Amino acid sequence: MNSIVIGSGFGGIAAAIRLKAKKHNVILIEKHHDLGGRARVFKKNGFTFDAGPTVITAPYLIDELFQLFNKESKNYIQLTPLKTWYQFIFEDKTKFNYSGDEQEMKNQIEKINKDDFKGYQKLVSFTKKIFDKGFLELADTPFDKPFVMLRQLPALLKLKSYKSVYSLVSQYIKNEKLRRILSMHPLLVGGNPFSTTSIYGLILYLEKKWGIHYSMGGTGNIIKGLEKLMTEIGIKIIKGHEVTKIITNNQRIKGIKLDNNEEIMADNVVCNADPPAVYDKLLDETNYNKIFKWKRKRMEYSMGLFVYYFGTKKIYGNIEHHTIKFGDKYKEHLDDIFEKKKLNDDISYYLHRPSATDSSMAPEGHDCFYVLVPVPNNQSKINWSIQGDKIKNLVIDKMEESLLPNLRENIVEDFYLTPDYFEKDLNTKYGSGFSIQPKFTQSAYFRFHNKSEVFSGLYFVGAGTHPGAGLPGVLSSAKVLDKIL
Ligand SMILES: Cc1cc2nc3c(=O)[nH]c(=O)nc-3n(C[C@H](O)[C@H](O)[C@H](O)COP(=O)(O)OP(=O)(O)OC[C@H]3O[C@@H](n4cnc5c(N)ncnc54)[C@H](O)[C@@H]3O)c2cc1C
Repeated sequence: MNSIVIGSGFGGIAAAIRLKAKKHNVILIEKHHDLGGRARVFKKNGFTFDAGPTVITAPYLIDELFQLFNKESKNYIQLTPLKTWYQFIFEDKTKFNYSGDEQEMKNQIEKINKDDFKGYQKLVSFTKKIFDKGFLELADTPFDKPFVMLRQLPALLKLKSYKSVYSLVSQYIKNEKLRRILSMHPLLVGGNPFSTTSIYGLILYLEKKWGIHYSMGGTGNIIKGLEKLMTEIGIKIIKGHEVTKIITNNQRIKGIKLDNNEEIMADNVVCNADPPAVYDKLLDETNYNKIFKWKRKRMEYSMGLFVYYFGTKKIYGNIEHHTIKFGDKYKEHLDDIFEKKKLNDDISYYLHRPSATDSSMAPEGHDCFYVLVPVPNNQSKINWSIQGDKIKNLVIDKMEESLLPNLRENIVEDFYLTPDYFEKDLNTKYGSGFSIQPKFTQSAYFRFHNKSEVFSGLYFVGAGTHPGAGLPGVLSSAKVLDKIL
């Protein structure tokens, strides 16, 4: 069996390894000269900037890939658990250290609102139920047939999946600050907490179950370890070539065409590239029936991301590894981004400081960061070559005020990425950060199917297919493929 995987994000790499374990001849093709997709690494003057994922959860999903070949992940990668998972900071300077230590969580919650700890415990118990169903049972279940979805509907309704994560959390928690903290998880996978199905409340429990980890040397070292594994087990990797067409005959996949006109024939083509972009650009639309055309048209896309990477000549030792700073107009900011597709100055942001855990990420005496600001995706038609510098300056001002004094004069290295990078470099429709949104009407059967609903021999793994974005999601999508093939 000859299989081609297009794209080397975590989902694509996991799919290639799983197919190799099934004795397929596997070719992995990546447009860029380096692997990882959103998890690529940018190295600049002694600073190591992980481009994307930094919060590593459910590490067993990575271990499994090594175990398929009787290898131990610890010989390739080194993960370390973090004590404080996130520090949340509000405009009025209230801080909350979020962790897996229940006594510490009690102290932190009671500092903000004494009455909410009981509700928190009830919320955790409820998210365990969602986790048992939504993650343990369904994350690696193929949803390519309608009856699979129909069978699950009663259980999903019982778990209140018609509610949003924010409204689920509000049922248990009274204080607005705590509501924001405990409902922020959809933002990690591209959804608005005020509209994302409460199934994603499972992330709260998933973090508790396996903790939050950091990969020493950066997330890029996981990609490096997986690349080493792929080479050892005989996966052919083609870097620096883009697939420009998927060759078909009568709705059956035949192979692919590269940007140098080379054609490679295969029995299966697995796309880790963004499904809506693949159906738009690499395949022939005349094969799509009315229902599929309607499905593509009605899809709603996740937000865009503005990511500013910077190194400083000063060490900001009081900044935690992961900080989330809420602006005052949080809900309004999210509404502007997701619904109105416009920028808002009262930003909320996530600040990553890997050098808090790993001094190898910056030259001696220096500090390494990235700050991520959710912004509208490219449906907004924002001209990022004009707005980019404005947002950069806005976020530096905001960080100087509340977290990093005298930041501007201490920056020695910097660059940023906008939704244009996600659209043009990573081939993602509308430059969204996480492909299509994680809404109920776009989950499981309603997402782009792992086994194409249009062509035989065509499969999808990664953020835009079931179960969705985030490392646990895309690694699970490769397990779905494993079951289908
Ligand atoms: C800034 C940021 C921070 C994040 N933080 C976290 C986090 O802390 N924890 C977490 O779990 N998740 C996080 N995520 C989400 C997570 O990174 C993604 O959901 C996941 O990495 C996406 O993986 P994927 O398998 O979908 O592939 P992608 O990473 O999207 O990779 C797809 C690959 O396909 C290639 N490709 C596309 N088209 C073609 C073509 N025609 N020919 C050849 N190659 C092609 C692209 O170049 C790319 O390399 C973050 C995402 C971002 C952007």
